[in-house]
Amino acid sequence: MEFREFAARAASIEAEPADLEVVGLVTDLLDAADEELPIVARFVQGRVVPDHDSTTLDVGPSYLYEAIARAAGQNVDADDVEDDLAELGEIGAVAASYDFGGQTGLGAFGAGAGEGSDDLTVSEVADELEALAETEGDGSQDAKIDLLFGLLNRCSPEEAKYLVRIVLSEMRIGVGEGAVRDAVAEAFDVPVEAVERALQVSNDYGLVAEVARDEGVDGLAELTLEIGRPVQAMLAQAGSVTDAMEDWDDAAVEWKYDGARVQLHHEPDGLTRVYSRNMEDVTDALPEVVEFAHDRIDVPVILDGEVVAVDDDGSPLAFQNVLRRFRRKHDIAAAREDVSVRPVFFDCLHAGGDDLLDAPLAERHDRLTDVLDGGESPDDTAAAVEGLSKLWISADPDEIESIDADALDAGHEGIMLKNPDSTYSPGRRGKNWLKRKPDVETLDLVVTGAEWGEGRRASVLGTFLLSARTSGGEYETIGKVATGITDEELDDLTELLEPHIRSEDGQDIDIEPAVVFEVGYEEIQASPTYSSGYALRFPRFVGVREDLDAADADSLERVERLAETQ
Ligand code: ATP
Repeated sequence: MEFREFAARAASIEAEPADLEVVGLVTDLLDAADEELPIVARFVQGRVVPDHDSTTLDVGPSYLYEAIARAAGQNVDADDVEDDLAELGEIGAVAASYDFGGQTGLGAFGAGAGEGSDDLTVSEVADELEALAETEGDGSQDAKIDLLFGLLNRCSPEEAKYLVRIVLSEMRIGVGEGAVRDAVAEAFDVPVEAVERALQVSNDYGLVAEVARDEGVDGLAELTLEIGRPVQAMLAQAGSVTDAMEDWDDAAVEWKYDGARVQLHHEPDGLTRVYSRNMEDVTDALPEVVEFAHDRIDVPVILDGEVVAVDDDGSPLAFQNVLRRFRRKHDIAAAREDVSVRPVFFDCLHAGGDDLLDAPLAERHDRLTDVLDGGESPDDTAAAVEGLSKLWISADPDEIESIDADALDAGHEGIMLKNPDSTYSPGRRGKNWLKRKPDVETLDLVVTGAEWGEGRRASVLGTFLLSARTSGGEYETIGKVATGITDEELDDLTELLEPHIRSEDGQDIDIEPAVVFEVGYEEIQASPTYSSGYALRFPRFVGVREDLDAADADSLERVERLAETQ
């Protein structure tokens, strides 16, 4: 396909306001693309290489302005181009405003267009841009400007407009991923779902379009994950224990590690690559992950996880330390001396020849455990396996709270809640992965009662009754808190509260209002259970407000206000 035709079709798409018509026009474009279909399917989204390939053209705007100025002629310099940009607002329009001496005035894609002329093809543009991407090292910017200059010189204004937009990866013609997916389905008469799935495993619109055209739905179904071709990461949305309990029978609960996302691709005796969240190859920056793979994994795998920075004892360090390691290009050994990192894997997308995207999470985690423990699974919990994220299946909010408290105590960010039955959806931010919302507000509440603990903890207080202050100086109960408190803290709290015990009735203890707890919660509900008429959902202990007296505790009015505005 001539680039002139591509540009003319892109212009029609840009001029079309209706989404449905846009899909129709993209369908026509794909239909007309012949052997250049893979390139066209990328160009139409302003992409030069497949999504899984993090190669960039590495052409900064100033170099592009320079190339445009040179192609525009002797009287134009990069400053003029910038001035025009300020006026026209968009670099494509600026490029189109010059006459580069390309195929001006020829018909777009009408009969006879381009006959005998030096017409630029879509393939030539792709080849030149690939050459541009590969130009590295000293003097590379000049070489890139030369290459761009050469291309622009052969462009009509319309071609120049879309060429520079592709160079900057901003097509701006209103074609999103969904439109290309739908157009591939329509152009080659295959189900949208089959296209979607193929895109998830291959991350390559060009390949999927070509396979859909040449091999149909069966060919698409045969596309598999490939080691060395990164998959888009599944993402989480904010959510609560309440959300999880409402939607699922039980929840997979994991610690939320405060590091950076990595995807490990590893073949024993073969390729080992590590990719970042945006699919950049970060293998060289993270030798610890590569060593981990060589030492511990003896089947081909694609694993999803997090790298965390750790101190000499293996305790997690702040997330900024990990980022510093990611950015590091040189002197990796020295960087490693300063901050070492370790991987923690929480998902398994491929193991030993099996693609697992469609397997339920619980099964994927089992496979992950097998991969990492080398067949020597500990009897009790998988948590003991090095490099394996902890996972609990629970339907008990109290247990989930205490997992959260343990995670925070161990220096992690909190917890993730996942649907144990869910498949892995690359690139999706859905309801199946929830990152627990941090407390929006906390309440300072007075302890007005307690219960003794159980079993070996029978001599210390275990559960605390909380109250809010009324305007009349009374205290009305609002909930009980038992989670988020370590054994050591329970000992301290018992010591603190014992002098205030007024009476005991079996397990139940009446305590004079004196000590104030700061308490987190997920929601305030109207409830007849407590005398205030409200109850806290999932209350958890944050700390003792040593600086507050009972009279300074939060009022029932504040509770009412919070309940109304939440
Ligand atoms: P966003 O994903 O919303 O852009 P973000 O990258 O800052 O934001 P969060 O949303 O805070 O990340 O949380 C999701 C991220 O948490 C994941 O991308 C992953 O890097 C990290 N993470 C840590 N532990 C886990 C875990 N057990 N399961 C899934 N993700 C985890």
